[in-house]
Amino acid sequence: MGGRSMVRLLDFAVAGLFVLALTILGLFTWAARVADRNAFAIETQIVGRELGRAVEQFRNDLPNGLVDRARWQGVARETRLVMADTARESPPVGTGRFAGLLADPATRARIDELRAAFARVEPGRGHVEFIRLGPPGGETLALVARIGRPGEHPALAFELVDLPAMAAALETLSIELFPVTGPYAEPEAANGRLELAGLGGEIVGRLFWRGQRLAAIASRQILPALVAILCAASVILFLMRRRWRNARETFERDLERVEQMAGTDTLTGLPNRRALFRHLAAVAPPAQTYPPITVMMLDLDGFKWVNDTLGHEAGDRLLVQAAAVFRAELGPETFLARLGGDEFVAVVPGEIVGGALTRLHAHLSETLRRRVPSSLAGMPVGVSIGAVSSVAEGGSGEHLLSLADIAVYAAKAAGRGAAVSYDGSMEVEKAFRRSLERDLRAAVLTRELRVHHQPIVEALSGKVVGYESLVRWQHPFRGLLMPSEFIPLAEDTDLIVEIGNAVLNQALEELGPVGDCRISVNTTGRQLISPGFVDHVKALLVRHGVAPRRLCLELTETSLITDGARVGAVLTALRAHGVRIAIDDFGTGYSSLSYLMRFTFDTLKLDRTFIAALDDKPESPTIVTSITALARSLGMEIVGEGVETVQQQIFLAAAGVTYLQGYLFGRPVPLDRLVRGTAPLVPAAETATLGKTQRAA
Ligand code: C2E
Ligand code: CA
Ligand code: CA
Repeated sequence: MGGRSMVRLLDFAVAGLFVLALTILGLFTWAARVADRNAFAIETQIVGRELGRAVEQFRNDLPNGLVDRARWQGVARETRLVMADTARESPPVGTGRFAGLLADPATRARIDELRAAFARVEPGRGHVEFIRLGPPGGETLALVARIGRPGEHPALAFELVDLPAMAAALETLSIELFPVTGPYAEPEAANGRLELAGLGGEIVGRLFWRGQRLAAIASRQILPALVAILCAASVILFLMRRRWRNARETFERDLERVEQMAGTDTLTGLPNRRALFRHLAAVAPPAQTYPPITVMMLDLDGFKWVNDTLGHEAGDRLLVQAAAVFRAELGPETFLARLGGDEFVAVVPGEIVGGALTRLHAHLSETLRRRVPSSLAGMPVGVSIGAVSSVAEGGSGEHLLSLADIAVYAAKAAGRGAAVSYDGSMEVEKAFRRSLERDLRAAVLTRELRVHHQPIVEALSGKVVGYESLVRWQHPFRGLLMPSEFIPLAEDTDLIVEIGNAVLNQALEELGPVGDCRISVNTTGRQLISPGFVDHVKALLVRHGVAPRRLCLELTETSLITDGARVGAVLTALRAHGVRIAIDDFGTGYSSLSYLMRFTFDTLKLDRTFIAALDDKPESPTIVTSITALARSLGMEIVGEGVETVQQQIFLAAAGVTYLQGYLFGRPVPLDRLVRGTAPLVPAAETATLGKTQRAA
């Protein structure tokens, strides 16, 4: 919807704003660095020029030609020169400021330094050098020159560099010069420095200054401002986003209301609940003389699973596809509506019952399977139908709809993928299922669930190698319930996970101490992909001290259909731990063979329908032999299920089936009545009695 894309747009805007801000900041920092480098270069030039000017001044002040002491003595202006006769012991005293300077005891103390410098300076006008001259406690920069021609009395001139004057001059250029003090400790505030080399290349002085630096200004002033602007913009965008979302939700709600009024379901384009009720009110026969109608409730099998595991979009696409199939196949006479969720209602003229209903259902199922890609649904999609005709029941349209609802409930309870016509007993059935579900929830907690164990034997010797643990429910007043009476119910809810785990726990607890027997437990896909399942199995094995290789988890094909990738990962992890995996009821599903290719199993359990059919269906022996050969070639063990006769045992053993399970060797019984050792080849009823008498003895 438009609103959603607007929200996304605002999200992009926030992200874009941040990226932009970071880019600007980066560019800015970079530019500031470059500018600062240039500023430093310029400052260095300016400071250097100031120094150069001092040197020039000094040089100009030096007298031309021969140095005439008399002339010098007559020099009135403040030349800041001193003459030094190298031959003499003590230097002569000059005039002006120097006179005072040399009279200063500190300077006089450094006279020897001056002498040494004097000796090194080349004679000749204009050869000017920097030297360091230090009154103790401070350093002073000075300029020295030796003047005079060879053979003449050389003279030394020196002048202190007037740093305060230089500083004043530089200040007008926004350069703050620090007077040189101490042994050149760099002032903290300085960000510029120039080194002055003396005669021998040694550093005689350093000038420190502080200039304007853009980067520093940026981080102090521009950065906080930028962050503030960014925060403000984000807050504004966030608020806008929220307003948009609210607006969108209101819009969607309004749309739904409009839709209701308009009578169309936007997803599928079919009439909606409101339109259905209008239609029912119009066509439901108020009297038997009216032409009859059939109200059918169609419920997609597997929709909830698709929605939960593949997401709502996949669920929506499935609904659209299914709606298209129903619309096309039910014909123009039929009024088709979507009630909501995965429930569709078809109002068909005439009476559709018995064979007609079965044929219609088969046709719809087949078309769905063909037309809805299984990649979309994750498994073949089916449909359950509950139907009721106005001839049989009568009443208002709404009443018929409620009866169709009960019928579809019964169809799903009968194992899905069925079409059922309403009959009076269903109401009772539905109430029964409701209370059963409630009781089952409690049963998991109160340990009303029991496991019975059925021996699995070696085909030839009849020696017991392990047991399959099968759940039973000791209901407080309904008696012992078989799995078929409550497992399908549990599979509709998350209860199956709890039940499965409870059975696994009980099986390991009871059979753990029984020798080295194998322990087979049934599991479902939902349970496998429940969070932490692998760790849970490992923990149970440790708790009951059972070696992993003794445990075999049995899986039916329906479990494997569920989210293949995740199931595959769990199976791999379990097998890596040493747990065995069996494919159960092999040969009864849609694509048993393809599962053998996709997953690795240790054991194949040959479904009992093949074994039961050994005697009367001519092709059965061939099927059994081929499956056995296939399994053996893939390195799997084979368990034949539901072996009831010695003939079956002999045939299976000869075909290469390694292990057998069935009433011939023992029924599922509680722990205390287990058949151990070698199962006697006697009818099951007697086995049970035998168990009892043995116990009594
Ligand atoms: P299954 O896994 O195929 O289990 C074997 C079923 O065949 C058991 O039925 C067993 O009593 C029955 N059976 C064994 N030998 C013979 C025989 O010689 N002849 C005949 N006619 N039947 C025989 P049961 O105990 O009623 O279990 C039915 C199904 O319920 C199981 O089929 C299994 O799919 C499911 N089930 C049982 N316990 C659990 C459980 O703890 N968790 C889950 N998820 N499913 C379970
Ligand atoms: Ca089984
Ligand atoms: Ca089985």
